[in-house]
Amino acid sequence: MENNKLICQACGNDTFSSGQIGSLTSEGNVRPIGSIMATGSPLILTFCKKCGEATSIKVAQPEKFK
Ligand SMILES: [Zn+2]
Repeated sequence: MENNKLICQACGNDTFSSGQIGSLTSEGNVRPIGSIMATGSPLILTFCKKCGEATSIKVAQPEKFK
C-alpha cells in the first residue's frame, strides 16, 4: 500500500492530474513580492480528474525566492 495515495476530499476519487500555471518565461508566475525584475516561478496544480478539486498547489522553483 502506498501511504501517499491521494484521495479527493470532495468526491472520493483517486485519480489525479497535474497542470501548470504560468511558465518559465511568461506571465502567470508567482513572483517575489515587490520584485519587478524577477521572473518568479510557475505553480504546479494537482487536481482531481473527476471533479477538479485541487489537492495541491506547489511552487515549481522555490529556490527563486530568497
Ligand atoms: Zn474529486
